[in-house]
Amino acid sequence: MSNSKKEIDLKELKQKLTALNNSRTEYIFQLVHGKPMIHGLAHDVFRKCGKKNCRCAKGSLHGPYPALSINKKGKQKIVMIRKADMSVTVKKSERFRYFQQTLARIRRINKEIDNLLIETRNSTSTDYVHGDS
Ligand SMILES: [Zn+2]
Repeated sequence: MSNSKKEIDLKELKQKLTALNNSRTEYIFQLVHGKPMIHGLAHDVFRKCGKKNCRCAKGSLHGPYPALSINKKGKQKIVMIRKADMSVTVKKSERFRYFQQTLARIRRINKEIDNLLIETRNSTSTDYVHGDS
């Protein structure tokens, strides 16, 4: 090998890839639970009622009221949750939040694996030179 590039530690690389792949698999299967979710993140909303002499006019807002923050195609909207739907909706929304967070973790892992593979390719390939064998 007439290669001036630094040699990669294959054992270490394989260990890294194995660890990344294992946690990715774990995350993926946490997401395919089949339980219902609601598109939106639950949070509390505080509001002014509009009456001039109300405490809210001086900054002591009414609430908290449960709401869903929904992001569709980059547009965000807030939808209030009815009291009767509250516990089920919040639970489904918590699943949605967890899904989003875990999906972000999986994407970070994908990127890391991708980077490691590109690094591997670049450190183990050379340009073809006549007479090189
Ligand atoms: Zn008020």
